[in-house]
Amino acid sequence: MSNFDLIVIGGGPGGYVAAIKGAQLGLNTAIIEKDRFGGTCLNRGCIPTKAMLHAADLYREILEGGRFGIHAEKVTVNYGEVLDYKQETIDKLVSGVEQLLKANGVTVLKGTGTLLADRQVKVTFAEPAEDGATESYYDAEHIILAGGSYPAKLPVEGMELEGVLTSDGLFALKEIPESLTIIGGGVIGVEFAEVFSALGCKVTILEALPKLLANLDKEISQNLKMILKKRGVDIHTGASLAKIEKDPAGGLICHYTEKDKDQSRSSQHVLCAVGRKPNAAGLFLDPEEFADIAENSAALTTKHLEAAAQTAHDLGITMERGFIETDVYGQTGAPGIYAIGDIVKGIQLAHVASAQGITAAEKIAGHTPNVDLAIVPSCIYTSPEIASVGITEEDAKASATPVKVGKYITSANGKSLISKEERGFVKIIAHADTGEILGAQMMCARATDMIGEMATAIANKLTPSQLLKGMRAHPTYNEAVGEALEELEGGAIHMAPKKKK
Ligand code: FAD
Repeated sequence: MSNFDLIVIGGGPGGYVAAIKGAQLGLNTAIIEKDRFGGTCLNRGCIPTKAMLHAADLYREILEGGRFGIHAEKVTVNYGEVLDYKQETIDKLVSGVEQLLKANGVTVLKGTGTLLADRQVKVTFAEPAEDGATESYYDAEHIILAGGSYPAKLPVEGMELEGVLTSDGLFALKEIPESLTIIGGGVIGVEFAEVFSALGCKVTILEALPKLLANLDKEISQNLKMILKKRGVDIHTGASLAKIEKDPAGGLICHYTEKDKDQSRSSQHVLCAVGRKPNAAGLFLDPEEFADIAENSAALTTKHLEAAAQTAHDLGITMERGFIETDVYGQTGAPGIYAIGDIVKGIQLAHVASAQGITAAEKIAGHTPNVDLAIVPSCIYTSPEIASVGITEEDAKASATPVKVGKYITSANGKSLISKEERGFVKIIAHADTGEILGAQMMCARATDMIGEMATAIANKLTPSQLLKGMRAHPTYNEAVGEALEELEGGAIHMAPKKKK
């Protein structure tokens, strides 16, 4: 008989959510985590960035308080205390996850899990067990792999230099850098640009693609570029990094090509924010044999990846460029073995990992998974916030889908005027014939909280008139969503009517 119904390897937002769901559905569940529960999201990702953004935005708002008649003098930043506040928030959430696992009866195994044949898992304990054992073997009817990811680095000369950091390294800095060059104008890049520019650091962004946040609505990228520039961030799009070298005067020099011209920028630190790599190989490689990667996934070489892919293949699991292939429920090619989160090809976000975890646990427990994994809201916590779900106008054009667009500029929204928000907008895209909502993009205060309504609408194929059945409270930012829906239905109330052609 198996030790467990379900073993989950990895305790990030994918793994711990899957373990709790599995236990709630009656599965005898264990979870293996080699580091801290909450994974990248709680310890090195979503939560620390948002805590730092909160502190940085608060500082900026206090400095700009004169707009509201509030004048503060001698406002200073104590970066050590900002880091303490960030860590306190993380610690509370991590301990909350530990308590939830315990309260749900999940067996916690602290150590590194390695998948073996016949749904067996070897656990190399982080600390010797009470009986002195350093490892143990368990088996389960079902296994969920949730190893997460680690920061990618560009294959460019100079990436190994001291002072070239990934997001992990940037969190570890004890002082605000004087200047920072960020390679990559994606979500992580722009969020850090907002944090450090608000805290007084001279920030430069080098983005190889023609716009920031390349996958988002064009208007959002343009507006964000303008807002960040106004806040002093030096932004270079279409700028391709050639190499990094030590600056004899101190710091680092990034050499890049922009509009066919060779350029360079000097800064104290360089942040490489060019995406994340799947941490799947470590699930198949014995930590004793591959001790060099146990502590540092970034040490993975082609040799490790090939060895892991071969072992995975022998177990019936297909890996492609480090990612594990699965069906829609997360099931791999090996019966009973699932994979979720950042190790699976697709969008690397915490709520995607959690939704995949719930889906896999429900499937394993014999339930019908409910969440629509194809509809993924994505949020950026700049000020103003940015959120998007479903298709954009550009997507509709590319796929020749007939759509109508309801757009509302938030400058006439009472709550936005009260808080003197930057000029923002809510855009909702509906099918021209059926009225079904297909997408929404927002750039305004609380956009990240409001996008959930649009995800629910798309997942349930709702129309603007169905969403307008419920009133929106006044004054709220949410009224802007109502206005964009009204615009789709014939005309927003607080907006001049479009001139008839
Ligand atoms: P992870 O969170 O990486 O967790 C994997 C866990 O598995 C880790 O704890 C690891 O220690 C453990 N593990 C790995 N191998 C083993 C093994 N062999 N044995 C035992 N344990 C193992 N996403 C959002 O949705 N919103 C955001 O605002 C956001 N902001 C981000 C900001 C930054 C700076 C970064 C870096 C990421 C951000 N993300 C955000 C992405 C998000 O953090 C990830 O998509 C999410 O954490 C993935 O969850 P996961 O469970 O797949 O993996």
